[in-house]
Amino acid sequence: MAIYKAPKGTKDVLPLESYKWHSLEGMIRDIAAKYGFLEIRTPVIEHTELFLRSVGETTDVVQKEMYTFTDKGDRSITLKPEGTAGAIRMFVENGIYSEAQPTKIFYLNCPVFRYERPQAGRLREHHQFGVELIGSSDASADAEVIAIATEIYRTIGLKELAVKLNSIGCPKCRGRYQDALKEYFGKHLDELCETCQTRYQTNPLRLLDCKVDTCKEIAKDAPHTMDYICDECKAHMDELQEYLRIMGISYELDPMLVRGLDYYTKTVFEIVSGMGGAQGTLCGGGRYDGLVKELGGPQMPAVGFGMGMERALLLMEQRGIEIDKPLRYELMLLSMDQSSKMKAFELCCSLRQLGMKVDCDHMGRSVKAQMKYADKIEAEYTMVIGQSELEQNAAKLKNMNNGDEAEVALDPQKIYGRIRA
Ligand SMILES: [Zn+2]
Ligand SMILES: [Zn+2]
Repeated sequence: MAIYKAPKGTKDVLPLESYKWHSLEGMIRDIAAKYGFLEIRTPVIEHTELFLRSVGETTDVVQKEMYTFTDKGDRSITLKPEGTAGAIRMFVENGIYSEAQPTKIFYLNCPVFRYERPQAGRLREHHQFGVELIGSSDASADAEVIAIATEIYRTIGLKELAVKLNSIGCPKCRGRYQDALKEYFGKHLDELCETCQTRYQTNPLRLLDCKVDTCKEIAKDAPHTMDYICDECKAHMDELQEYLRIMGISYELDPMLVRGLDYYTKTVFEIVSGMGGAQGTLCGGGRYDGLVKELGGPQMPAVGFGMGMERALLLMEQRGIEIDKPLRYELMLLSMDQSSKMKAFELCCSLRQLGMKVDCDHMGRSVKAQMKYADKIEAEYTMVIGQSELEQNAAKLKNMNNGDEAEVALDPQKIYGRIRA
């Protein structure tokens, strides 16, 4: 009877399930390596100020969703609500901007915390994979980042993918667009939800992705960014689409796509699964050319994305994509009495030294029960050791898959040779 339960919105990875994570992690590492991205690991906690500066004080993430607390030294600390701010903080703090550029980094299994309503199927702690490509303002960098995300989902086995794309402009042209938005939404101010009334004042771009139906209806006819962005932003977007065509990645322009974080400039994108109606967002990202400077570094452009790993695993399960369960034990050594158990234990140790996955009885079970257990956990081979086996210094090695038996000396090298042959 469990007295304690994991906090709402968190999830354990159970012993018989962790291989699924390993499989996904391995696949992601292989892909990241092909593109030359190097792993970083940053702390789970950061100073709250970091997220106010980067994610933005008026965003939903900062205002409603962060896990923030005051530590014993009276500092305001926050559990990471996303991966990019910590990565860029690391980049600036360690002077990585003075190394050879571009900088290509990724984080894997990065815990991310958002105080969200768990009934929406969302976790309050989930894990992200993300990449940041820093130092290049070229559209090929945006394209490469999108290519990695796409390749991951394709490798997982998701065939019907689409990239949703938009440009939210740069500091030079965004003001012009925000004015146009304010002019448009100003006419509908009374009809907007309460949150949007505030957004209208503080963050008009966010008016475009309100989930309230009445707001959505109004947003439909709002002016599009693409009609307001400057020539440079437009050229960047055109070039990116060219690269996507070269890679054969299908995309659609979505003028409603703005993403909920303030640091984005120019490109924003989401990768969605499924075509038409039942689309689900798999990952999102974009360009953030001002963030390195904002966090105290030099002016350096950057682009990246983050993807939820639980989400990817869930999708694999829903699509019936099989993950091979790794073999846990090549050999289970069974013993009939105490002295044969000692021998089994000794062999076990020697075989592990040789690199074999092997175990012996730790439960004091009967041979019959040991055999049942070996069968249940799908050991590849078993070997029963009793008094007569000790006398003859040999025992029968049984292949559990086909029942074949062979007499083998109680010698680690011989056993190893027979199983690995
Ligand atoms: Zn611009
Ligand atoms: Zn609204």
